[in-house]
Amino acid sequence: MSLTASDRPRFWRALGDTAKVYNHALDDDRREHYWRALQDLDIQQVEAACEAAEKRAGTGNCRFFPLPGTIRALTSESTSIQRASVTAMTQAALKQGDVYCLGCDDTGWAPTIDGRVVSLLEAVKRNARHVRPCSCRASNHIYAAKKAREPKIGQSGGDRY
Ligand SMILES: [Zn+2]
Repeated sequence: MSLTASDRPRFWRALGDTAKVYNHALDDDRREHYWRALQDLDIQQVEAACEAAEKRAGTGNCRFFPLPGTIRALTSESTSIQRASVTAMTQAALKQGDVYCLGCDDTGWAPTIDGRVVSLLEAVKRNARHVRPCSCRASNHIYAAKKAREPKIGQSGGDRY
């Protein structure tokens, strides 16, 4: 991932908002240098780092308007914090036998009858025989953890969802 021309408005806004918090004058020339120095990041990372910089303004490595290297450091910090909290949430949920998605019991497969997704209860009652990938997959941390734990079986065919 990297910054693309269409990210420019968001980039300007993120950097501009941060500059306001630091009471920092950001001219076009300087913005252009930041744009180039942070080319390889993606826009979400830049926005998250700028947000972190705003929250920490006046402390630690954010005593002054962050230099590109500081923004970069804030980026990896916020990603690892996110990752750590997702992992912790997942572990806690798995320990409790908790279910994140009531539509598929975290299997990633939602039961269907006549092509329509039905509740697990209805599926049992009416003996549903078909499934389709559950819509929770993209956001279900437990499903993702289970998926990661599965042994890899061969390289051909199989589950492409
Ligand atoms: Zn689900």
